[in-house]
Amino acid sequence: MYVVKKNKQNKWIVIAEGNKRASKSFESKVEAIAYATKKSKDENTSFRVEDSLGSKSKKKLWIILAIILLIVLAVVLFLFATGKIKIQLPKEEVYTIEFEDNGHGVAPTEIKEVNTLPDPLPILENVEGWEFKGWYLDENFKTAAKPGDPISKDTKLYAKWEEIKSTVIETDELSIHFLELGNYYAGDSVYIKAGDIDILIDAGSRASSSTTIHNYIKDYCTDGKLEYVIATHAHEDHISGFVGTNSNPGIFDLYECEVIIDYAFKNTSSQISKNYESKRDNEVTLGAKHYTAKDCMEGTNGAASRFNLTDTINFEILNQKYYYEKSSDENNYSVCMMLNYGNNHFLFTGDLEKEGEESLVEKNDLPHCKVFKGGHHGSKTSSNEALLSKITPEVVCVCCCAGSSEYTDNVDNMFPTQDFINRVAKYTNRVYVTTLAKYEIAKNKNGNEYPKVNGFESMNGTIVVTLDSTGNVITTCTNNDTILKDTAWFNSSITLDGVERKMRIWPSDGK
Ligand SMILES: [Zn+2]
Repeated sequence: MYVVKKNKQNKWIVIAEGNKRASKSFESKVEAIAYATKKSKDENTSFRVEDSLGSKSKKKLWIILAIILLIVLAVVLFLFATGKIKIQLPKEEVYTIEFEDNGHGVAPTEIKEVNTLPDPLPILENVEGWEFKGWYLDENFKTAAKPGDPISKDTKLYAKWEEIKSTVIETDELSIHFLELGNYYAGDSVYIKAGDIDILIDAGSRASSSTTIHNYIKDYCTDGKLEYVIATHAHEDHISGFVGTNSNPGIFDLYECEVIIDYAFKNTSSQISKNYESKRDNEVTLGAKHYTAKDCMEGTNGAASRFNLTDTINFEILNQKYYYEKSSDENNYSVCMMLNYGNNHFLFTGDLEKEGEESLVEKNDLPHCKVFKGGHHGSKTSSNEALLSKITPEVVCVCCCAGSSEYTDNVDNMFPTQDFINRVAKYTNRVYVTTLAKYEIAKNKNGNEYPKVNGFESMNGTIVVTLDSTGNVITTCTNNDTILKDTAWFNSSITLDGVERKMRIWPSDGK
């Protein structure tokens, strides 16, 4: 057996296997093979050709290659780890969404460069007689489009519209009464007459107010029965009139209450809240149904979130997070209620504070409201922009004693506060206030002068709200119908420690 291979001098040699010395060497591989062919034929043997590199050299080469590869890999890993090189992922596909307005409103023509549905999705303005209900991924409105949904080049969004059924307004079918309470304390009591149904939201501000409330509502509620009673939260200025005193029987004593809806939590352990709950439970023993706002949301205990009053009027208990979790502020437990008369809405939020209002906005699709009961008696901590910008109220009714020093000797923070006025003024100048404080100049504990409340009179008096046949809000107050910014109190000046100031200022960007 001969072997044809290259030697160290780069010559082609033919060598008998096992020998150290070549038989012959050649300049070219062809010559060497020709020689080997002949020689092996003559000697009746065979030959083979070895590649230019031997198996040992091959092994070496592989090792060198592997080392180089490892070095390159290490360098790349180092550069990647130190951020000197970055991996460029292939770009996500971007598409243009097509919006179909379905004949109402004006849909955006397109939104460019998106790979998921935008957050938030555009909201179309309601157009005459039609209400925008949201975007859907199909023409039959089976699948609602959600922000962040993946899209493809075929994605098209369809606007769903619902025809607004116009309600024939019978002007005597609904009236809402924001009551004067017979003293200079802030407090709420709102009486609603819807057809034959009587509703009372809160009974403040003091136990003796029960007589004032009764003297007013007995002319409207002639059957001695309040179909619905709502106690928003456990503060005295909202519940004491339900209880009354020995000489002033409470609302629970004077009326049969069919359904009582109240707060899910309270922090206070006040005697008045215990008395309220004990009298409430007595009503239940006598046949009343009692639901907390949480029951209404969860449909437990036989409760529901919506109560139909007449063919066209209902009310809903609105959702907010403090029906389920504790707040350090009792006010945030307030039961929130929306009264609906066809497409006309009236909002009552008790003394709900900023965090509660934000939750209310988050958890409900709040509509434009004809009337809003000014949050927390016109406090600076309620009626915030987040809420007002949703409900854009036409009329705001404030249950308080204007300019009373009950909670503060800082004039700006007396109800209705300057901050409240600044925020509400953007939406309406139709602001009404039940009661007005009389005062004398006194000195506070720091020796500074302040207007100390020493009596009260009617401001607008009890504010009565109805709608005319076209849905305009009509106010007929028991004292006068002067809007807040035109009242004598609002425009009066007061001199404290020798400095004259305006009682209130209507902001320059106000209505
Ligand atoms: Zn209150």
